[in-house]
Amino acid sequence: KSKEITGNSYHFFSEGMDTRTFESVKLENALYRALDHEELVLYYQPQVDYLTQRIVGVEALLRWNHPVKGLIAPDQFIPIAEETALIIPIGEWVLRESCRQLKYWQDQGYPLFSIAVNLSARQFEQNNLFAMVTNVLSEVGLSAEYLHLELTENLIIKNRELTLKTMKELKSLGIKIAIDDFGTGYSSLGYLKSLPIDTLKIDKSFLHDVTNDDDNAAITNTIITLAQNLNLSVIAEGVETKQHVEFLSARECYLMQGYYFSRPMKAEDITKDFIMDRDYSKFERNQL
Ligand code: C2E
Ligand code: MG
Ligand code: MG
Ligand code: MG
Repeated sequence: KSKEITGNSYHFFSEGMDTRTFESVKLENALYRALDHEELVLYYQPQVDYLTQRIVGVEALLRWNHPVKGLIAPDQFIPIAEETALIIPIGEWVLRESCRQLKYWQDQGYPLFSIAVNLSARQFEQNNLFAMVTNVLSEVGLSAEYLHLELTENLIIKNRELTLKTMKELKSLGIKIAIDDFGTGYSSLGYLKSLPIDTLKIDKSFLHDVTNDDDNAAITNTIITLAQNLNLSVIAEGVETKQHVEFLSARECYLMQGYYFSRPMKAEDITKDFIMDRDYSKFERNQL
């Protein structure tokens, strides 16, 4: 082991530690302070019903506004937050902040839509998740029916009994549950059927070249049909082109989310562009 002195603090690291690891240690230290220093920010991406041309929800997507590195995408720090259990306070902040934002929109008299919040496995494993969610909803004064929680398949198969118990509790409040990135995990259909799920979200990797790749088209078709047969909602993520929209519409999958309609945006911008002028035909003006 060697010791390095920077300023007045000591950093220990072993010979084999590469710079990326060192970087991630630094990132971890900075992440501890990010919450206190209000460096976390939520972006919101509309979920639209293409059939009625209405906004039906927004997904809250976390970014870290790092003082030096600028805006950092969640894929680069959520894994660190999960390893360090920082995801617990961060996740609670995300939930409170996004529920508060939605309540604000509701209080302004904007049309009603839901807020989708991503939960990580680590959050789902804490045994007071239900209490935390209940508290946040009552503090904020948001009705539970507007909250959609997005879970991944891999989270679901980790601890089956706890998962089912917590899901049932959340459902009893009126919260909706969506399976994110559906089709990329390892859950069996039989097991999924036993869970109180409302929505399947088709992973964006399947849609990506759905109009050229027969396999992706087959998978997308299968997920849509599965959802329809099981009486679940189905929403496609990663909708980027008119071709995507047409492919999905032809299969009666009208719930869509993606850059074609809008990139994730700050709350003020989404208010301006999507909610305030109530001209839903303008959805398509943001296309690439
Ligand atoms: P996700 O929940 O599957 O979110 C969808 C991701 O796809 C977002 O990436 C979004 O910006 C991106 N996306 C949306 N439309 C398009 C499109 O048309 N094309 C392409 N190529 N991408 C599109 P983002 O914001 O970088 O988030 C990545 C992942 O990080 C999320 O995937 C989610 O798993 C996780 N995440 C984000 N926020 C949170 C959070 O608050 N808590 C937890 N636990 N995880 C979060
Ligand atoms: Mg999601
Ligand atoms: Mg996803
Ligand atoms: Mg994802």
